[in-house]
Amino acid sequence: MNKTKWNSKQLKALITENIRKAGLDPVGYIVEVVTGRSGGEGYSGCARYSRQWFRMRVPALIITKDCFVGSDGKTTYNEVQTKQMQTIFDSVKFSQVCQHELAHNRGVRHGEMDAGIRYCEQDEDWAVYFEVKADGDGEDSGLY
Ligand SMILES: [Zn+2]
Repeated sequence: MNKTKWNSKQLKALITENIRKAGLDPVGYIVEVVTGRSGGEGYSGCARYSRQWFRMRVPALIITKDCFVGSDGKTTYNEVQTKQMQTIFDSVKFSQVCQHELAHNRGVRHGEMDAGIRYCEQDEDWAVYFEVKADGDGEDSGLY
């Protein structure tokens, strides 16, 4: 369930790989991907113990129009540049949080996790090869 403007197919591929890496079965899994309330930059998650469910919060894709007024008095919008700046999805950070949530799904509590996974700082460099584009085919799709 993707409620963001990040590419659903690519998000699904990344999440499926994360579930497999955690030694779990992707079949029957429900993963919600939503944006932070404030449209923030961070990645965070929320999971249920021993259930095939977790929710990921990812950065909102907000296209803000930066503009300037030139010496000729015309206003120029610098939309393309800001679009590029805000369309980089951090698949590694996403996977670090994903693996933490998946550990909860396996019934693991914070006290039982090693420090890396507890603080979402473990090595998930494999995820760098999973690109998630900001071409918005989520329920909420369409750039603004
Ligand atoms: Zn946790």
